Amino acid sequence: MTSTLLRGRTLSFVRWPQTIDDHSAWRYEEDGGLLITHGRIVASGAYPDVEKQADEWTKKIDHRPHLLLPGFIDAHVHFPQMQIIASYGAELLDWLNTYTFPEETKFANAQHGRRVARLFLDETARHGTTTVAAYCSVHKASAEAFFAESHARDMLNIAGKVMMDRNAPEGVLDTPQSGYDDTKALIAEWHGKGRQLYAITPRFAITSSPEQMEMAGALCREHPDLHMQTHLSENHAEIAFTQQLYPWSRDYTDVYEHYGLLGKKSLFGHCIHLSEREADALSDSGSVAVFCPTSNLFLGSGLFDYQRFRRRDKPLRIAAATDVGGGTNYSMLRTMEEGYKVIALNGEKLNPFQSFWQITRGNAEALSVVDRIGTLEDGTDADIVVLDARATPAMRLRMETVETLAQELFLLQTLGDDRAVREVYVAGRPARSDIAI
Ligand SMILES: [Zn+2]
Repeated sequence: MTSTLLRGRTLSFVRWPQTIDDHSAWRYEEDGGLLITHGRIVASGAYPDVEKQADEWTKKIDHRPHLLLPGFIDAHVHFPQMQIIASYGAELLDWLNTYTFPEETKFANAQHGRRVARLFLDETARHGTTTVAAYCSVHKASAEAFFAESHARDMLNIAGKVMMDRNAPEGVLDTPQSGYDDTKALIAEWHGKGRQLYAITPRFAITSSPEQMEMAGALCREHPDLHMQTHLSENHAEIAFTQQLYPWSRDYTDVYEHYGLLGKKSLFGHCIHLSEREADALSDSGSVAVFCPTSNLFLGSGLFDYQRFRRRDKPLRIAAATDVGGGTNYSMLRTMEEGYKVIALNGEKLNPFQSFWQITRGNAEALSVVDRIGTLEDGTDADIVVLDARATPAMRLRMETVETLAQELFLLQTLGDDRAVREVYVAGRPARSDIAI
């Protein structure tokens, strides 16, 4: 098989960058090379050294002066919500009842699911995102459509059919038994097929009966290696309704704790209004809090206290995500721009190295897949994004005064979007330039 040798300015993180001068936290090559064979990075480093390892048949692609980073990772999205993104005027529970649930009923139709899955993965590729943790609709066919499309593209994606059996229209409800059976069948068919990973996905405590929560807990016990994803503490009305539905619970987190849903592969979307006890419980169990800034601002849900969560005696593991369609943009660059503002409103800063760590290695660590994606390390999958900090006239002008890599990254995050993504490689194959726009 032919190898590919990419040339450009390579940037990959080895750990969380404490400060803007914490150079040992990342590897940066001004003239870097990445040699790719069978979808994996087999050599990386200074271009002249990597080139020596290439044979005469190797295809060489020169991306200079652009930046090569690991493909972005989005830790929480709803693929069936593409046609309700940018819907006006609702907070969380109204948003779900007015827009989300009626929209998701359409996914009973397998053909509709296949069309939207295709367009969704086109869109993520255009924005430089190579892995998502996705909620499908309640319908088994929606998860089948998503996984089939993801598998055909050889993407590493995590997804699951949502389980929901109450407090929503008939067309988006399963039952404790059918939710369990459909999940089991989807795990058997898709988990570990190519690069596909299954996530057990009870939507949230409000739309699952205690019987269904028991079933979700049983699935987690039966499949301890799988992810579990759900929503937690996004909005005050949601929290109050949850306490009403589970009156015995100490707090919202306790509901999930009671059913055995906390753990190192458990992803909790939002986590905005946590008590100290809840944050301790998440930390003790190694659970992940998923920060969705554009969604939290759009729905007026609140400000995720990122730096305090990191700094506390029992720190939280944190991932970042778009939460499309509650989130307002597919781009992880735009997401971190809004994240920067949310953190600023809490009186803190997130430096640009920390931001880019978060959407690459940080999210890979949070999703427990850092041995496969999120870095440019030898032996990992060749999921790569190529970024152009001069993509628009305004960016080009601003770049005239940029002197450091930190400044360039911050410019990319603040002004960049899909236009700054020049190319994307998924398992070593170009994915963006293949899309007819
Ligand atoms: Zn969500």
